Amino acid sequence: MAILVLGGAGYIGSHTVYELIAAGRDVVVADNLLTGFRAAVHPKARFYEADIRDRQAMDQIFEREEIEGVIHFAASSQVGESMSNPLKYYDNNLWGTTCLLQSMVAHGVDKIVFSSTAATYGEPERVPILETDPTHPTNCYGETKLAMETMMRWTQQAHGLRYVALRYFNACGAHPSGAIGEAHNPETHLIPLILQVPNGQRDHISIFGEDYPTKDGTCVRDYIHVTDLAQAHILAMDYLLQGGESNVFNLGNGVGFTVKEVIDVARKVTGHPIPAQVSPRRAGDPAQLVASSEKARTVLGWKPQYADLETIVSSAWDWHKAHPNGY
Ligand code: UDP
Repeated sequence: MAILVLGGAGYIGSHTVYELIAAGRDVVVADNLLTGFRAAVHPKARFYEADIRDRQAMDQIFEREEIEGVIHFAASSQVGESMSNPLKYYDNNLWGTTCLLQSMVAHGVDKIVFSSTAATYGEPERVPILETDPTHPTNCYGETKLAMETMMRWTQQAHGLRYVALRYFNACGAHPSGAIGEAHNPETHLIPLILQVPNGQRDHISIFGEDYPTKDGTCVRDYIHVTDLAQAHILAMDYLLQGGESNVFNLGNGVGFTVKEVIDVARKVTGHPIPAQVSPRRAGDPAQLVASSEKARTVLGWKPQYADLETIVSSAWDWHKAHPNGY
C-alpha cells in the first residue's frame, strides 16, 4: 500500500516525500507543477502530473494505485496574493479539496493528513496559541484553510473520513543533504528573501511595517524547520493508520522572533551586513503568531530537532548559496 502525496513537488511536500522514502514507505506523488518542481520529487516516488481539480485524473490515480492514505499539500499559500486574488484561493484550495474528497469518498480512501496554517487563528487573543483558541482569519488564505478543515469535518460525519489538520507556523530551512530546499517563483517568504541579499540578488530586504504592537514594532512569527514539519506528517499518518480520531495540531517551536531578529540571525549566519528598509505593512498580516505544540508532542510524539533559529537559517543558507536560482 502506498501513501499519496498531493503537492509533493512543492516545498513542504517534497521534504515530506524525502522523509517518507527514508522511512521505507511506498510513495505516489501528484502535482500540477504550477508552483512545484519536478526536480524536487524524490526519484523513488511514482510521479503523476495532475491537478486535484481534475476529478478524472484523481480517479485514475486511485484506480491505478493502492492508496492507504493521502497527505494533501496541493494549495495556494501566499497571504499577500490571497488578498489581491481571493477567488484563486477559493478555486484552488476549496474547489480543489472538494474534487479530491469526492474522489476519495468514491474510492473508499478514508484517511487524510493536510496542510492547515496558523493563519486560521487571525490576530490571536494570547500567545502561545492553543488549538482550542478562536479562529478569526485576517486573510483569505487562512479563511480557505479553515474552510478546508470544516469541509473535512462534515465529510467525516457523512462518509466516515478521518483527517488530521496540521496548522503550520512559519516553515523554513532546507533538507540536511542539500538535495532539496525552498524555491518559490516569485519568492514572497521572509527568510529566502533575506538570503537573496548576501546572494547578490537584491540590494536590501524590506521590513513590512514597524508599527505593530510587538517589542521592536515588527511582526513576530514562530519559525519551524521543514524537516520537523515533514516528520509530523508521517506521525500524523501513522496515527490515522492506527485508528486515531480526526484531530487538529499546531506545529511550531513555541518561540517568537521579530522580522528584525530574523534579519540579525541571517547577518550572523552569512557574515553579510544585509541592509534593511522599512516599508508599509502587508495587508492581512497578524502582529504575532506563536504556537503551543504541546498537543502534537503529547498525542503524536512529535519532537522537533531544529529548535534553534541559527541552525535553521544556516540550512536555508547552504541551499540558497548552492542553488541561487532554485531548481
Ligand atoms: N516579511 C517582511 N518582508 C518581506 C517578507 C515578509 O517583513 O520581504 C514579513 C511578513 O510581513 C511577516 C513575516 O515577515 O510578518 C513572515 O512572512 P512570510 O511571508 O515569510 O510568512 P507568513 O507569516 O506570511 O506565513
